[in-house]
Amino acid sequence: MTKRDVFRFLNEPREMPAKLPLALRTEGDWNELYGRFEDRQAAHQADRCLDCGIPYCEAKCPVHNYIPNWLRLVQEGRVLEAAVLVHETNPLPEMCGRVCPQDRLCEGACTLDDGFGAVTIGAVEKYIVDSAFAQGWRPDLSKVVATGRRVAVIGAGPAGLACADRLVRAGIAAVVFDRYEQVGGLLQFGIPNFKLDKSVIATRRAVLEGMGIEFRLGVEVGRDIGMDALLAEFDAVFIGTGAYRYTDGGLPGQDLPGVLPALPFLVNNGRIVTGGDTWGRPVAGWETTLALPDLRGKRVVVLGGGDTGMDCVRSAVRLRAASVTCAYRRDEANMPGSAREVANAREEGVRFLFNRQPLEIVPDTAGRVAGVRVVETRLGEPDANGRRSAVPIDGTGSLLEADVVIIAFGFSPQVPDWLDGHVEAPGNGRIGVGGERRLPYQTAHPKLFAGGDAVRGADLVVTAVQEGRDAAASIARMLRKAARPASAALD
Ligand code: FAD
Ligand code: SF4
Repeated sequence: MTKRDVFRFLNEPREMPAKLPLALRTEGDWNELYGRFEDRQAAHQADRCLDCGIPYCEAKCPVHNYIPNWLRLVQEGRVLEAAVLVHETNPLPEMCGRVCPQDRLCEGACTLDDGFGAVTIGAVEKYIVDSAFAQGWRPDLSKVVATGRRVAVIGAGPAGLACADRLVRAGIAAVVFDRYEQVGGLLQFGIPNFKLDKSVIATRRAVLEGMGIEFRLGVEVGRDIGMDALLAEFDAVFIGTGAYRYTDGGLPGQDLPGVLPALPFLVNNGRIVTGGDTWGRPVAGWETTLALPDLRGKRVVVLGGGDTGMDCVRSAVRLRAASVTCAYRRDEANMPGSAREVANAREEGVRFLFNRQPLEIVPDTAGRVAGVRVVETRLGEPDANGRRSAVPIDGTGSLLEADVVIIAFGFSPQVPDWLDGHVEAPGNGRIGVGGERRLPYQTAHPKLFAGGDAVRGADLVVTAVQEGRDAAASIARMLRKAARPASAALD
């Protein structure tokens, strides 16, 4: 073990990997914003960790990564050991390192965040996995004993992929179904390339296939195969179908030409940026073949301040809009999106208007969008979720002129028809899991488990990963119990 300078943080400032030059971004370069640490830079950044004894960062990380331990391994140049350790808790660490809102999670809890700049935990996590994969490292499953059990996983998003990873590590064969021809769910088709390069998903898919996971892609459950067929073929089923019910806000004028819902806008950008329509057959509903709007020279207003809103404003910059404005009804401190992404959007020229609530989208004489009528707000009492409400202030109405308006108010889940009679739906379109006499993530049907956005509502990649991972542990437990003789199964 090498000797450490515990005061390194005093003369080694927090540093992120270099960013793509601003001029390239505003000229339409969709490459990943952040580059990669050199080995030395990663070691120095990792060495800033105080190893403070009570790792608040671990507590705040939804998968409870062993952060100080793998930072130490990186500082010592033991990247392959760090890769083993980071996979113990996180099935998709290179994704989380890229897209977690670290300022609200691990880095926000870092002791050094108070005045010295938090350790760049996410960037080091990404460095560990990218470096290990580049050196040919792959998860070692040589000690895994096959149980002969098989589980179907519906949805190849982060929840489904994390679940499949943990199942095969427990000796349970996993077959993952997705309606698209690509794996990744929103990682693949929602989150833009500048946050997560799609080659990262292709690499992870190859790793998962190498572990023995089978993907049956372009298969929509409920249309191409029914629940009963899955229950007959498999010992258990995990449902990780995500949250896709679009929140439109019910604004007058929202159907005008020039008004775009966020997800089809992002999906179509993604299709074009990654070289064409690779999603397979269209699925009924939200992602129809919306032609990509030409935003060059247009004034774009994005309504909403979450991750989706930030992805829309920054995509509009890359599509060379004349101006991009984000209107959000609360103040900056109450924005749901990551502070880092807000800072990046600002750097790219996005204008933020806080405390503005949209009232209607106003047409011009030709019936196209002319702007959004907004009213100023102040913060009121906390709502049921503890967030302070936005209270409109009388007499403060104004018009935000726009050629294109993108609505990014978020998504919620919807229990699909094909689950009727199999699961409970406690409300808000969520699939009910857990509770008395059930394992965590087990539904009302003993062989059906669920997790990710379909259960908790639209949230984060890392929380979907955590639920998929923990649902796999419950499935393994259920299968072990079922394998025991009847007298023992009653314990
Ligand atoms: P999903 O990722 O939605 O995956 C569900 C999968 O199920 C999909 O592939 C879908 O095709 C498949 N499926 C659905 N129904 C069927 C069916 N009947 N048959 C077969 N397959 C089916 N989170 C972050 O942490 N950081 C970010 O920066 C971030 N940015 C985001 C940006 C956008 C634009 C959006 C929309 C979300 C963002 N999120 C972000 C949230 C994050 O992407 C989700 O919380 C996460 O992907 C949820 O994972 P999941 O596996 O539950 O669902
Ligand atoms: Fe931080 Fe996310 Fe990694 Fe946890 S998974 S250490 S929250 S970047």
